[in-house]
Amino acid sequence: MKPVVALVGSPNVGKSTLFNRLTRTRNALVADYAGLTRDRIYGNVDEENCRFILIDTGGLTEQTDNMAELMRKQARLAIDSADLILFVVDGRAGMSAADQSIASMLRQDGKDVLLVINKTEGEHRDIVAAEFFALGLDTPQVISATQGRGISELLQRISSKI
Ligand code: GDP
Ligand code: MG
Repeated sequence: MKPVVALVGSPNVGKSTLFNRLTRTRNALVADYAGLTRDRIYGNVDEENCRFILIDTGGLTEQTDNMAELMRKQARLAIDSADLILFVVDGRAGMSAADQSIASMLRQDGKDVLLVINKTEGEHRDIVAAEFFALGLDTPQVISATQGRGISELLQRISSKI
């Protein structure tokens, strides 16, 4: 069976953009406003030496409305079925309270998590990485989903974990 990798994070951090880049599709809708992805979306990543099923999810928020609740349920299902979680954060916005609560939730799950810092075009890798040090996760992968920075390295790291 193919390994399953799930994209998790706050809304608007670029999960769907990364999904589309990795699956070489445009199946996930990308929007410059939060909360567009509501359901789980499945795709195939089919690179040499790196084949897996990728799940895109809606963002996790602290909000308590029905939509936020629905997105949380979908994320929960994705996390439960995944072999590896890609926890995506926004390197421009910096670490948020939501990032911290998602990190602690993932830590409780005990799943294998790779922190992916997106939107880092033009930023210094070590400086962005240091900003998210407090999340207590392993060395993050610094990427730009729109520009393609760090994507082949990301694939290498995924394949070493699945
Ligand atoms: P999601 O809600 O996490 O799925 O985020 P989306 O993929 O819908 O992207 C949210 C916004 O961030 C869109 O306007 C994207 O074009 C933008 N975005 C995604 N990746 C990058 C990136 O690497 N750099 C920049 N500057 N913007 C990005
Ligand atoms: Mg999305």
